[in-house]
Amino acid sequence: MRKKIVAGNWKMNKDLPSSISLISDIKNEIAGKNYNTKIIICPPATSLETAGVLLKGTNISLGAQNMYFEESGAYTGEISAKMLKSVGCQYVILGHSERRTIFNETDEIINLKIKAALKNNLKPIFCIGETLEERENEKTFQVIERQITYGLKGFTELEIETLVIAYEPVWAIGTGRNATPSQAQEVHKFIRNLLQIKYSSNLSDNLIIQYGGSVKPENARELMAQNDIDGALVGGACLQSDSFIKIVEAAE
Ligand code: PEP
Repeated sequence: MRKKIVAGNWKMNKDLPSSISLISDIKNEIAGKNYNTKIIICPPATSLETAGVLLKGTNISLGAQNMYFEESGAYTGEISAKMLKSVGCQYVILGHSERRTIFNETDEIINLKIKAALKNNLKPIFCIGETLEERENEKTFQVIERQITYGLKGFTELEIETLVIAYEPVWAIGTGRNATPSQAQEVHKFIRNLLQIKYSSNLSDNLIIQYGGSVKPENARELMAQNDIDGALVGGACLQSDSFIKIVEAAE
């Protein structure tokens, strides 16, 4: 049985005081509850250190939204995997469509980032997904296959086992327009089949594949009830503790 993971990607929202307040609200919401679902929050870099302290001893894991692939040196403005580890991060989102489109990250750059994350024992939440144009041109499966092939190039099955994959159709991110449960399930199943062909049934059966793209309390249950959907990567709806925790409860 695969565990469900619900991760909140705060993006460039919440300064330090509002991060502290959201973390405290989330902790209050889940106090005394024992969820099977793994909960991860990914605040902006400026809040990670404090979040790491506030989350100690809780069942909420900490993730970052990005990192650079080099270990250290003259890379102004960048943050390394080791730095993220040092403030308590266990996960890092890599390959998010906003990084791919706004910051020109290629499959090759994402591959280097995954490599650096794994080397430092950070678990990548590896995002893949097609644009609306690609979907309309029936290129969805081709794009997913390319992103997986190049993003995961050179890794052993043991290394890939530590990853989480997030299928996030770009047309559904921040648009309020989610993929229907059957559209999402179709791609998740395709990803699982691809993993079986490229690696093994064991990997394909056990790898966690989240769905992301306008997940809200109202649509979360049906999406996560699909056979191959193991949780959600949540943007907008994770910025309030009540809607975020409703999604966690839908995963349960
Ligand atoms: C995301 O940024 O990963 C995301 C899924 O955003 P939203 O839930 O707002 O569509």
